[in-house]
Amino acid sequence: MKIKTFVVNPFQMNSYVYYCENSGEGIVIDPGYYTKYEQDEIVDFLNEHKIRIKYIINTHGHVDHVLGNDFAEEQFGVNSYLHADDLFLYERAEQQGLLYGINVGRLPAIKNFLSENDVFRLGGNTVKVIHTPGHSPGGVCLYDSTEKIVFCGDLVFSRSIGRTDLPGGDYDTLIGSIKKKLLNVFDDDYKLFPGHMEYTTIGRERADNPFLK
Ligand SMILES: [Zn+2]
Repeated sequence: MKIKTFVVNPFQMNSYVYYCENSGEGIVIDPGYYTKYEQDEIVDFLNEHKIRIKYIINTHGHVDHVLGNDFAEEQFGVNSYLHADDLFLYERAEQQGLLYGINVGRLPAIKNFLSENDVFRLGGNTVKVIHTPGHSPGGVCLYDSTEKIVFCGDLVFSRSIGRTDLPGGDYDTLIGSIKKKLLNVFDDDYKLFPGHMEYTTIGRERADNPFLK
């Protein structure tokens, strides 16, 4: 399995492609492509590596994570997944974009909803869903226990945590999600790939994250 990170849109959001080199099957996590350059970049990468996208998954409904949904659905021929508790954010994403001077355009209606323990198959590997509210009510993490990888959206960052001041955010819920659903479950050597900034590990955040003391 391989990970390719694209840092996209004015929010410098990490959009991931997680893919199996053998089968060529891949998943797009948070298609936040905004410019034509960013759209071309992903398409060129997939063509070059002969990757077929089976799933598009939004870790949550904030504008920077979903603003490329329409392009991605059209390009990859599949519908996006989102947790239902973030639909209210998704539906406001266009407005949220305008506040930041970003023209989101049309967002396709969500047809696929994520639930805890959902499983997505890529070649012989599986990616599973954990519901981790706090940054937003419908925030999710995705993990592959074979590769010891967790995609954690905006829940936790390297030595930091996600914002909780946006609609539906809640500080205690967020800390609870990180502790109960990540730290208590995964070993120190699991890698964490967040929605912004550099990757980290469970062990590093357990030891050094000032918000998790
Ligand atoms: Zn967010």
